Amino acid sequence: MHVIRETTRKMDNCLFCKIAAKQIPSKTVYEDEDLIAFHDINPAAPVHFLIIPKQHIGTLADCSESHAALLSKMMLLAPKLAQEQGCGYVASEEGVGRGGFKTLFNTGPDGGQEVYHLHLHVIGGPRPWRGQR
Ligand code: AMP
Ligand code: ZN
Repeated sequence: MHVIRETTRKMDNCLFCKIAAKQIPSKTVYEDEDLIAFHDINPAAPVHFLIIPKQHIGTLADCSESHAALLSKMMLLAPKLAQEQGCGYVASEEGVGRGGFKTLFNTGPDGGQEVYHLHLHVIGGPRPWRGQR
């Protein structure tokens, strides 16, 4: 399903546009016509990858109704790729289950955003994680 109706836009001097365009290498875990996912260069946990749109969008705060299908696609991809990367969540009827991952959009300076091209962090794997329990 191709969810971007408009022509894909690229930004000069945007690191993640360059990764999406393969001008900068990345350890890709998934790619389709709208999205690319790749391992974070500075992982915070045993599994840490980023899902980004190929289209340049600066932040989550720049999104509108027109981006709903794209955001939904990113969110629904996260658990599938987490499963493939070894940090899927396994539910249990008796307890809380096992495995699992964190999904995170950092937005703006106070949100800790460093790269201004929309990205969804998927962070998981056995604990402890870097600097966390
Ligand atoms: P944020 O702070 O939410 O903007 O996250 C940006 C993330 O991009 C950080 O976790 C960085 O480690 C990661 N990152 C920066 N450069 C690269 C790169 N060339 N390849 C993969 N991940 C990167
Ligand atoms: Zn970009």
